[in-house]
Amino acid sequence: MNWELEIIGARAGSPDRFGPASGYLLKTDAATILVDCGPGVIGQLAARDRLDDVDAVIISHRHLDHSGDLMAYAYHLAFPDLRTPIPMFGPTGFSGYVAQLDDVHGIPTLPTLQRPVTQMLPLTEVTPGDTFEVHGLRVDTVAALHPVPTMSMSFPDLGLVYTADTALTPELTKLASNTDLLLSEATYVDSAGRDILTHGHMSGVEAGQLAADSGASRLVLTHLSRAEDAEATRETATRHFDGDLSLASAGKRFLVRDGEITAVAAAPAHAGAGTDRGDH
Ligand SMILES: [Zn+2]
Ligand SMILES: [Zn+2]
Repeated sequence: MNWELEIIGARAGSPDRFGPASGYLLKTDAATILVDCGPGVIGQLAARDRLDDVDAVIISHRHLDHSGDLMAYAYHLAFPDLRTPIPMFGPTGFSGYVAQLDDVHGIPTLPTLQRPVTQMLPLTEVTPGDTFEVHGLRVDTVAALHPVPTMSMSFPDLGLVYTADTALTPELTKLASNTDLLLSEATYVDSAGRDILTHGHMSGVEAGQLAADSGASRLVLTHLSRAEDAEATRETATRHFDGDLSLASAGKRFLVRDGEITAVAAAPAHAGAGTDRGDH
């Protein structure tokens, strides 16, 4: 199947001058799926006039850098013009979080905005470890090792795995087994000076180990805390993984045509998109 992964935002925590926090657009012939919706994602999609391309939303977990723009998106879907509700999938307990968002941001005097997220992004809760379908696309999940319910996800029809936020676990390695494209968090350069396992994250070291142990063909590092750490994080990942390695950055796309993956750099202002092969 031909498909495309577009990085909307790749930062842990909050947006920086290079782009938003976590957000990824997955485009197949059947649907366009927004995976995670961190701060800056909706602004980025709006700036490119892409807000109405989304057919479904998957949120890995409720931390702000993955869900902070959900309410902005719900407002867009309901106001000033009422659009068709978009199905959303989130992990166990996500409905409680959505209810709290709606309590705070709902507008009682506008029928379409009384419970914005509930009304415009109808939620299906997924127990991490379960499998679900989005517009005919199968999604396998495992429970991430992270302080709140979080699902790492695999799209076996595409050969794509997204770790979301998690420490390295045997379940994650199994989920990523022989995948073509492994989009892995690497929050830190390495684990020196911190208890990264309890914190529920990986560094470049664990991301490289995950890619090597799972037999992934291509590793894309994302969710770095600092853009300036890109080269150092790449270097730590190569301690374990000697395959095709690149870094996610806002606007970058990975095109998959007949099983071949091509990385396309973000289009610079006033110029067409260039191509690269894993050197960013
Ligand atoms: Zn995060
Ligand atoms: Zn998190």
